[in-house]
Amino acid sequence: MSDSTTARSAALHERARDTMPGGNTRTTVWRAPHPIYAASGKGCRIMDVDGNTYLDFINNFTSIIHGHANPVIAEAVREQLELGTCFAMPTESEIGLAELLCDRVPSFERIRFTNSGSEAVMMALKAARAHTGRPKIAKCEGAYHGSYDFAEVGLDSTPATWGNADPNSVAYSAGTPQSVLDEVIVVPFNKPAEAERILRMHADELACVLVDPIPSRAGLILASQDYLDMLWQVTRDTGVLLVFDEVVCFRLGYAGAQGLMDIEPDLTKIAKIIGGGFPIGAVAGKEAVMAVFDPRNGKPLAPHGGTFNANPISMVAGTAAMELLTPEAFERLNELGDYARAGARKALEESGVDGQVTGDGSLLRIHMTNIPLVDYRAALPTDTQKSAPTSLVEFMHAQGILISETGVCALSTPMGEAEIDELIETLTAALAATGEPRHAAE
Ligand code: PMP
Repeated sequence: MSDSTTARSAALHERARDTMPGGNTRTTVWRAPHPIYAASGKGCRIMDVDGNTYLDFINNFTSIIHGHANPVIAEAVREQLELGTCFAMPTESEIGLAELLCDRVPSFERIRFTNSGSEAVMMALKAARAHTGRPKIAKCEGAYHGSYDFAEVGLDSTPATWGNADPNSVAYSAGTPQSVLDEVIVVPFNKPAEAERILRMHADELACVLVDPIPSRAGLILASQDYLDMLWQVTRDTGVLLVFDEVVCFRLGYAGAQGLMDIEPDLTKIAKIIGGGFPIGAVAGKEAVMAVFDPRNGKPLAPHGGTFNANPISMVAGTAAMELLTPEAFERLNELGDYARAGARKALEESGVDGQVTGDGSLLRIHMTNIPLVDYRAALPTDTQKSAPTSLVEFMHAQGILISETGVCALSTPMGEAEIDELIETLTAALAATGEPRHAAE
């Protein structure tokens, strides 16, 4: 970032406060003392309203995989704009994106579009309940799945609230009814024996177990093979549906994260990259389960309207974005991810500051702790550790490198080694400026 100020952003925020609570309409983009307002983006760079430029490793929280204003996507959208943006009729564009996605992922026998990942989660849970006739859902402690009440439970449990080895169902949003908490069983992530005991205990009442195979808020740690094997076996034994949240991790490969893990969940939620930068979500899965949405014989078991479902703008943008993501494009991006993780690990090692790097494919997360990261409880920073990533992220931001508040970086296809080198150089400077060397703490 240049030395210029952020005066215009400050002024815009002041104006926004007159109409929106705290001047904000999306909790995740809030920054104290005020957010920086974007003016434009091109490739992997963003320009703010004061003329400062940033190298973007947030990529709208992992959703922009081709960077900003990709010309191929822009052209597809421009063409569709001339033809109309939404109708009370389906369009051919939805069939194209549905075919592309179902061709790539074996478990996607049928698919259905929504407008966001949160909606996709909601519809997947409703489908699971409708199909099984069971009321409860199980989810992993600390895993984020958007803003549906049931999926939020246990999202930010703390040592004061999380209970013993059997996690408590802790409300995230104030006012969450006790009845919602009663319908959600929280299990530990990556602890197969503990999770299996809890799942089997409640199996008769469970419609599904909802799992992100690499939950970013819970550490961006891959589910272990033992954990996945356990989930598979328990769900096959009990008729509980296995539901994957690949809203973020669908970017890990041509057939998503499940393609790398060789597992076929009953249902999967995807979103973000499949919309090419426009609002989208989808539920996909086994035909027998997805049949709950089929309207041909009257009211479906799980009715699902949505004014903008499969709107042609999101469909054509998503199709253009996904067509650019060939197996070779994933390979290149994931190799760049390896390069970035190796560079970040080296920078941490050489700095003498406590830290580690997690992630896979085109995702990485920088943690300022050496504690082995197995699950959410291990990955949750203590109050003292919390200040370390914050000052690191703020330092990098001031140098013109955007990474998320929790240290997550998502790469995009316009990036090359030069941009990764820029990230690592700034990380090195940030560690020197803000990190507390290990020996100083001892
Ligand atoms: N699931 C996961 C794993 C997510 O990261 C998110 C959003 N970051 C969602 C669901 C919700 O998606 P959306 O923001 O599109 O509603």
